[in-house]
Amino acid sequence: ETIGANLARTVAAHGDREALVECATGRRWTWAELDADVDRLARGLMGAGVAKGDRVGIWGPNSAEWTLVQFATARIGAVLVNVNPAYRTHELAYVANQSGMRLVVSASSFRTSDYRAMIEETRADLHALQRVVHLDDEESWGGLLADGDDVTADDLAERAASLSPTDPINIQYTSGTTGFPKGATLSHRNILNNGYLVGEVCGYTEVDRVCIPVPFYHCFGMVMGNLACSTHGATMVIPAPGFDPALTLRATADERCTSLYGVPTMFIAEWALPDFASYDLTSVRTGIMAGSPCPEEMMKKLISAGIDEMTIAYGMTETSPVSTHTRRDDSLERKVGTVGRVCPHLEIRIVDPVTGDTLPRGEAGEFCTRGYSVMLGYWDDEEKTREAIDADGWMHTGDLGVMDDDGYVRITGRIKDMVIRGGENIYPREIEEFLYTHPDIEDVQVVGVPDEKYGEELCAWLRMRPGAAPLDADGVRAFATGKLAHYKIPRYVMVVEEFPLTVTGKVRKVEMREVSTRELG
Ligand code: ATP
Ligand code: MG
Repeated sequence: ETIGANLARTVAAHGDREALVECATGRRWTWAELDADVDRLARGLMGAGVAKGDRVGIWGPNSAEWTLVQFATARIGAVLVNVNPAYRTHELAYVANQSGMRLVVSASSFRTSDYRAMIEETRADLHALQRVVHLDDEESWGGLLADGDDVTADDLAERAASLSPTDPINIQYTSGTTGFPKGATLSHRNILNNGYLVGEVCGYTEVDRVCIPVPFYHCFGMVMGNLACSTHGATMVIPAPGFDPALTLRATADERCTSLYGVPTMFIAEWALPDFASYDLTSVRTGIMAGSPCPEEMMKKLISAGIDEMTIAYGMTETSPVSTHTRRDDSLERKVGTVGRVCPHLEIRIVDPVTGDTLPRGEAGEFCTRGYSVMLGYWDDEEKTREAIDADGWMHTGDLGVMDDDGYVRITGRIKDMVIRGGENIYPREIEEFLYTHPDIEDVQVVGVPDEKYGEELCAWLRMRPGAAPLDADGVRAFATGKLAHYKIPRYVMVVEEFPLTVTGKVRKVEMREVSTRELG
């Protein structure tokens, strides 16, 4: 099935129910209204000359128009290219040229990003770009819609009939946590099925209302958010254009959301709000924490706040994204301490990163996924695709995992993050989980820094709780001695206000490693 065909079924079944709420403006759409707007936009894009397979960029923070563009491009078989809202001119030029972007829909500006000015400045270098549309500019947006005046229902139907579920529909550049982003190319089949199955795990029906503070530009927002909702007739609630902890909880309470999403840093920020207790979160039944390691303490807080069907998902852009997910009825121990077990219709295995052999249960190795969710490949990069997906179709994630006898997986780190100190392999994740239990520590990250004697030494970056005195290396040592092996106790400690983050709220360990190396060297 294509995304367009699936949406049509939801519209037929739940046309009068609420589809989309944009809290910043108070605008609301039913599924029937959303369908009509998607239709107009799809005609506009066709009238503007967008052919099947043409790349259409979308650049800006979360908005209702972002969602409309997502469904309209899918309806006409254009390939949506998600451009990171934090990008600047150099990065815009990279993704526009790498993907061969023909039309871009962008916000005019948001916070410190003047999208309009950046596009104008770069325009001469954007080789394939023929048209720029600003989604919040009436004249520009209206102009695109008017282009569709001569496009008939038959034209649209003919286009829809020419689409196949295995066509590329989306290029999502990865977060860039470990280096320069790569353009994962995804089909209808990839992301529609993943969105549907995520919605199944969360138990969505048309009465659910999902608060989506995570960026649409990333698969968490557009697949686990928008597509999980559209496949089940659930309501998409956009709390704010960019992430704001207070506005997220405000929207959750006021809109009586039943599900709340976030990467761990978002939940940490929300639960640390001074007026946290004043938000009524009693409507929230479930939700998803994902994207980076999910601290057990934070999961316990969510569950004790009454969100007892909260789940953790693990995945990556290249796999549409979700590969494993905890289930709502899992035991508490598995809910907080694992990333769940394999999702329906997928295979997973843990292999020796060197030999590629499947490892026995309980041994740590590289996590691999196979099945419908594996991307078509990296856009225009066969070599990188071959490095990532092996001849048998397994996607090699670069993450380290362990599977227990019942198939529950723990992610123990990234192969690239692993620290080797004096010949001992150390997974920073384990030390982070331990330090997180210190009462004065709000958040913690551990990285390796080069060391002449041991090859690498550990450096812990700490964010202290409000009012707590900063801990130094001696304080950390006193806390860890007797509980962690000596070589796992960080030699260096840096107390900071904020960690360097990607726009998806992921900690940029590469940058932390560089900063630590510079400051300690
Ligand atoms: P890049 O590939 O550009 O370096 P990235 O890998 O962070 O960036 P994404 O595809 O957004 O880009 O993120 C996928 C990665 O996020 C996974 O490979 C994994 O390392 C991490 N991740 C996702 N969910 C979880 C989770 N629940 N627990 C631990 N790690 C997770
Ligand atoms: Mg990655």
